[in-house]
Amino acid sequence: MIDPFGRSITYLRVSVTDRCDLRCVYCMAEDMHFLPKADVLSLEELDRIAGAFVALGTRKLRITGGEPLVRRDVMRLFRRLGDRLGKGLDELTLTTNGTQLARFAQELVACGVKRVNVSLDTLDPATFAQLTRWGKIDQVLDGIEAARAAGLAIKINAVAMKGVNEDHLDDLLAWCGTQGFDLCLIETMPMGEITEDRSDQYLPLSLVRSRLRRRWTLRETEYRTGGPARYFTVAETGRRIGFITPMTHNFCESCNRVRLTCTGTLFMCLGQDDQADLRAVLRAGADDAALQAAIEAAIARKPKGHDFIIDRRHTGAAVARHMSVTGG
Ligand code: SAM
Ligand code: SF4
Repeated sequence: MIDPFGRSITYLRVSVTDRCDLRCVYCMAEDMHFLPKADVLSLEELDRIAGAFVALGTRKLRITGGEPLVRRDVMRLFRRLGDRLGKGLDELTLTTNGTQLARFAQELVACGVKRVNVSLDTLDPATFAQLTRWGKIDQVLDGIEAARAAGLAIKINAVAMKGVNEDHLDDLLAWCGTQGFDLCLIETMPMGEITEDRSDQYLPLSLVRSRLRRRWTLRETEYRTGGPARYFTVAETGRRIGFITPMTHNFCESCNRVRLTCTGTLFMCLGQDDQADLRAVLRAGADDAALQAAIEAAIARKPKGHDFIIDRRHTGAAVARHMSVTGG
């Protein structure tokens, strides 16, 4: 599938639930209201849509959420998607908060998953508890250990927040070095209403990078994933560090991805509202050809890029939906 700007769309992110066992302050309000079950696609519906994408040339699937591993029976979906590996699909992966990894790591490997992204913003137990509103860091660290033991490659994702974990990123980078993990730092994006003031949380990664350079030798690399990250090699550890800077750096020209929510809404851009309702297409009884035609019509409308701006006067969101709905 080639979009109107000549970008080949080979990567689909699928949010399988909007629910989560944590409430990270930048992601969710404390009293989130979750979707009624009837609105959420069944595992069979999710698999059918994923299958249509693979038939149209999608080579990489990332399962996300909410927290994907809290969805009941989610391994049934992984098994089905794993069956598509080598038959058009090159990679099946997931982004998780890690709390359930100890339970599922081995099964994920059995389904053909080779790499996972685990979100961990700090190694300090008290800050972790505060950031996630009630999370226990040991549960995540045990999950990460189980993932490693099962043979999964691990990348750590951390959202950089002013006055919250900005002084912890150095330790996180050192820890990733000793553990053999890559690290990806993310700027906070203005998505969904939360309780806190976002302009208080925003920390430009250009500043983080120059601070890290006091201790670490960062060499820019050509490594790209088609996404918004710029990667550097950390000379002292040999691992990579990526910087995802949607607010300060325009990454849209090489965008190769679209996102499906757990309600079957396809978003062609994380930062724009245009969408296609694939649930309606499915539930109207579409056959595979009609489903594929609906997907192709949506890709033909993929916008050139987002226009996130941090509005320093307002705390509101540039995009009304939460990241947990679209899938990070
Ligand atoms: N629950 C899983 C997790 O935490 O990894 C998967 C879903 S989560 C929405 C995916 C990623 O989005 C996480 O790395 C999270 O830190 C990030 N994220 C959530 N809200 C964000 C925001 N407002 N700005 C930037 N990143 C955000
Ligand atoms: Fe849950 Fe992930 Fe959002 Fe944190 S970032 S609240 S773990 S969905």
